[in-house]
Amino acid sequence: MIQLTNAMEIFKILPRTNCRDCRVPTCFAFAAAVFKGDQRLKDCPHMDRNALEMFSVANSDSRTLERGEAEALEQLRREISHIDLASSAERLGASFAGGLLTIKSLGKDFHVDTRGNVTSVCHIHGWITIPILNYVVSCAGKPVTGNWVPLRELKDGLAWAPLFGQRCEKPLKRVADTHTDLFEHMIHIFAAKRAPRAFNSDIAVILHPLPTIPMLICYWRPDSGMESSLNVFFDDTADENLTVESIYRLAAGMTIMFEKIAITHDM
Ligand code: SF4
Repeated sequence: MIQLTNAMEIFKILPRTNCRDCRVPTCFAFAAAVFKGDQRLKDCPHMDRNALEMFSVANSDSRTLERGEAEALEQLRREISHIDLASSAERLGASFAGGLLTIKSLGKDFHVDTRGNVTSVCHIHGWITIPILNYVVSCAGKPVTGNWVPLRELKDGLAWAPLFGQRCEKPLKRVADTHTDLFEHMIHIFAAKRAPRAFNSDIAVILHPLPTIPMLICYWRPDSGMESSLNVFFDDTADENLTVESIYRLAAGMTIMFEKIAITHDM
């Protein structure tokens, strides 16, 4: 569950058409009302059903959703207590020392102990904990093939693809359009590698949100009257190493982080 902690974060996940079908004059006014607790996300009739399950708002209305997330975490922690972390390290592309499994995410070390606690010298975003624990529990250890496919071609990906386009690819394209240099720079902060000419794109980088879950972001600049475009691809083994829901969580969380970095850059 990704928690939205202010009106701007809520606004970003809305359709932003200002259609007024929620009886509020604008999407931003609706976001502010949701944050205040006067409206609920589901009062926007155009919100994707999957999105409603993915996001919680940090007000009293979200307590049930938070409880659901806490229960999911507890379940994952129980499962991890039965896993031999030392012998799982190779399967996960991780390392093990001193009772801790160390998994790299975007070039940074995250440690998992035998009770399923996740620690790091970096800030641990809410969106990363459940995917990391899910990865430890469910990763089949399939080696990456280098065959890039869109999310919709992964198992169960078709159901998540519309939400993924709306919450990940579209916002990332906006960041790329307005902060193209920063976008490249930001990606390199996270130990990305260039992927020259991937799908004939102008900018292509490969990030590793988890060791066997590489993510290829391709950006095409506007050209000869054509709009810019941006697409994200995954290795065709990704759905064997992580559930599509967790892949989506990682990508959506990273997108929000990139947007925040872009906003900070403007200040
Ligand atoms: S119904 Fe949804 S899309 Fe339309 S104005 Fe309200 S919040 Fe925005």
